[in-house]
Amino acid sequence: MKLEIAFLYHDLMNIYGDRGNIITLVQRCQMRGIEAAVSSLTIGDSIDPEKYDLYFFGGGQDREQYAVADDLQGKKGEMLLKAIEYGAVSLNICGGYQLMGHYYQPDDGPKLPGIGALDVHTVAGNRRFIGNVVVDTEWGELVGFENHSGLSYIGAKARPLGKSVVGYGNNGQDGFEGAVQGKVYGCYLHGSLLPKNPRFADLLITQALERRYGKVELPPLDDGIELQAHAAAIKRAKETH
Ligand code: GLN
Repeated sequence: MKLEIAFLYHDLMNIYGDRGNIITLVQRCQMRGIEAAVSSLTIGDSIDPEKYDLYFFGGGQDREQYAVADDLQGKKGEMLLKAIEYGAVSLNICGGYQLMGHYYQPDDGPKLPGIGALDVHTVAGNRRFIGNVVVDTEWGELVGFENHSGLSYIGAKARPLGKSVVGYGNNGQDGFEGAVQGKVYGCYLHGSLLPKNPRFADLLITQALERRYGKVELPPLDDGIELQAHAAAIKRAKETH
């Protein structure tokens, strides 16, 4: 099998090492003999909605988001929405998460339109949410860290990724973190997220492969080290909470 991955705005939206998610997806495929191809797509590049099985959209500061939001308007955003309609998986972190929603309103400046793949809208708060994060999800606890001022609010078409155990969550009020809508996943977890959350990584790979191959059962990997790192990070997050 082959997994086609699109790394969106790799040069602009890759804050706090979010590229580690791409490395994890590739490694977890290759260790199973699955070919993984990564295409880095940035401003001005077009999207072939049939080609990619999984899109990754990382975090970035407001400055980068202005340029990216502008690039996503019109045809590019339409093609990304079409790809999602065709069954592609999409993982979006922080600034990427915000622009997959309806809009992101920074603290000082015009509203940035998103593409509306997630029924979420975000407005900048007057403080930054920074620290370790643990989220209780249907795939077990996810661990990472956050650094955002955006406060995200979920509409009826989306559901939270999970309940905040440690950290501020989407908006520091409702106790939830992230959003899921179909195969579109958004959250504030940097880390990067996937290396220490192998079960979630495999969920994304499975769903992305199923677009092309139908039902897929991934053979298990020896995740001893990953799970030790996961447990250590969760322990530290809960102790310093
Ligand atoms: N600029 C956005 C915010 O501060 C996203 C930041 C990020 O991607 N870490 O909320």
